[in-house]
Amino acid sequence: MPWPVGPLQVLVLALKAGRRSPTLFEPVRRVVLPTVLTLACLAAPSASASSSGGAEPPSAGGGSSVGLAPPKPAPRKPTRRKPARRRKGPRKTRRGGPVLLAFDLSRRKLFDLGHPTRVRFRIHSAAGQVLVRLVLRRPGSRAPVTTIALGSRATGRAQSVALTGREAGPLPQGRYVLRIAARDGRGRTLRRAKGIESTRELSYVHHRFPLAGAFSYGGPGARFGSPRSGRRHQGQDLVAASGTPIVAPRGGTIKTVAYQAGGGGHYVVLRGSGENRDYVFMHMLSGSVRVRAGQRVRTGQRIGQVGSTGSSTGPHLHFEVWVGGWFSGGKPVDPLPLLEAWDASG
Ligand SMILES: [Zn+2]
Repeated sequence: MPWPVGPLQVLVLALKAGRRSPTLFEPVRRVVLPTVLTLACLAAPSASASSSGGAEPPSAGGGSSVGLAPPKPAPRKPTRRKPARRRKGPRKTRRGGPVLLAFDLSRRKLFDLGHPTRVRFRIHSAAGQVLVRLVLRRPGSRAPVTTIALGSRATGRAQSVALTGREAGPLPQGRYVLRIAARDGRGRTLRRAKGIESTRELSYVHHRFPLAGAFSYGGPGARFGSPRSGRRHQGQDLVAASGTPIVAPRGGTIKTVAYQAGGGGHYVVLRGSGENRDYVFMHMLSGSVRVRAGQRVRTGQRIGQVGSTGSSTGPHLHFEVWVGGWFSGGKPVDPLPLLEAWDASG
């Protein structure tokens, strides 16, 4: 038989000589041996081919994955990459949890007892409902100040929720970060769609400056305690153009709406809510008063306009703050520090 020389011949000789056994039938040995030989001959070129192929991939593929399978990188590398790509696609759809598509606030500045802000959001989810909550924290802190549960909300359409800041009791004044969070019935948490933020900055303020427009604090005569004929000035004058809107510095109840020809002209007294204070607004423009006694008003709500009615030499708001009731057991305090603080906070 014309067998090639070398290790194969040694193998065959060993089989013929040493491994001949009475139990091994001749026909079987004749079939097995050529098969072994054929496989051995085929294996040699394929091994050299794979080793030469192994030298090329590093320049083509590179990377650390080449080192993982140097003997047979050519066939394996593509099959390893393909599953990795496939996984990325199915992983998203397989996970299928809620995705935030929109999140915004109608106003970023919130006044205690003022108009609420509208929290608008839209969440996509295979589940028709998700549990939504809003988390308020201070900027730079991870600890939540308040968590507001919004309950179960429908997915796939725009949602709008009013936020007053009093959902969990009145918030301390200051700046906040509002984050929306959600989870579905399987505990999968909210992810953001590309380019969609899940947080919004928000400021919360307890009082509003009583003028919505340009003003000045006037001269020394405008100050609290400055001399008046036979008495002391009980408020702070704010000089502003006639018609400048006057707004409630604090939500509360209107105590008095009246007219005093020889004094305050058209004036209003407001009892602040949750504090032992009365606010007084005088010399308002005729016909501008928008409130009536007993009415509840929000922080920032329009009360009237700057005028010069009563005992006045020009358009200005005479503004008083009383601790306790106005002419009913209380006493006036200097409003300037309060006004400056309110002006600074917005
Ligand atoms: Zn005055």
